[in-house]
Amino acid sequence: MNNLTFDFNNLVRENVRSLTPYSSARDEYVSDGSKMIFLDANENPFDNGVNRYPDPQQRSLKAVLVQQKEVLLNQILLGNGSDEVLDLLFRAFCEPKVDNIITLPPTYGMYKVLANINNVEERQVFLDHTFEPDVSKILESTDGNTKIIFLCSPNNPTGNSFSEDRIVTILENFKGLVVIDEAYIDFSDKESWIKRLDEFPNLIITQTLSKAYGLAGIRLGLCYASKEIIEILNRIKPPYNVNELTQKRALTRVLNNDQVTKEVSDILLERNLLAAVLKDIPFVLKVYPSDANFILVKVDNADLRYRELLEKGIVIRNRGTQPLCENTLRFTIGTKEENKVLIETLKKL
Ligand SMILES: *Cc1c(COP(=O)(O)O)cnc(C)c1O
Repeated sequence: MNNLTFDFNNLVRENVRSLTPYSSARDEYVSDGSKMIFLDANENPFDNGVNRYPDPQQRSLKAVLVQQKEVLLNQILLGNGSDEVLDLLFRAFCEPKVDNIITLPPTYGMYKVLANINNVEERQVFLDHTFEPDVSKILESTDGNTKIIFLCSPNNPTGNSFSEDRIVTILENFKGLVVIDEAYIDFSDKESWIKRLDEFPNLIITQTLSKAYGLAGIRLGLCYASKEIIEILNRIKPPYNVNELTQKRALTRVLNNDQVTKEVSDILLERNLLAAVLKDIPFVLKVYPSDANFILVKVDNADLRYRELLEKGIVIRNRGTQPLCENTLRFTIGTKEENKVLIETLKKL
């Protein structure tokens, strides 16, 4: 371990360090599968499939993830979307009005929103002109109260993955936590940072079932980190934060990996097709390379093109107000049929 100065306990908020977590009925008596009469949680006893509280530790789902991701059970935390996981990180580690976090715009908007909600200062260090982290500026911007640096790789909305060397330099030289948001990792041929968890005690990886897994509606976010970090997050999470329907549906889907892989490869084919077509559209000035299920393009007039597409019934995202993203549009990759309509429409604008 090269991160000699990493002092985990000092990162945790004082009130969280001394907290006794709420102990729910399902925490107190853990079923071993034997037939018991459950009279402990004031539930309605008539079985309708969801009359019982869900497993607060989502054991069935985690058991599959342990196998697939090659991590230990105590290195996983699940949440109500990655948005809940990110919020838990703020609440565990960032003292309101005292601590600060670093984001690298243009990036996912939720880090800033969560910082504001939690009354934590957000320090912005823009990506460089190649959309890579500016490592020396990032490290210069940290101080003793900087708790978390948020890296989104592949990054939303730019679509690129950050260079491994730069991420390692940040991990090795920053004494706080480094979150790598891998919401789009399943679309990338780069390896997940989960493989390197044991190397970096300050590394936290978040993933989601909302994108490649096609389950945005059930809200399931995943967090991988050292067992010390996961233990802290477990202390403050709402006991039943992942509901029964979500746990069941997620389990079915992660067990059906082949279908996910097939859908991802279809999406990637369509992405490459769309990227090629976009390059020949006269008002498109630049098509940025993508490691994700969307493409960022620079156009002559983003507001105009956005409105024109909207009039034709196609909704995309105008990213023109983001730093370094003047006149850019973000296209999510749809089905083959949707892509065809999009391409025909673009050609006629
Ligand atoms: C879509 C997205 C998420 C997903 O959030 P959920 O709450 O899990 O749906 C997380 N991070 C980034 C960068 C995203 O674009």
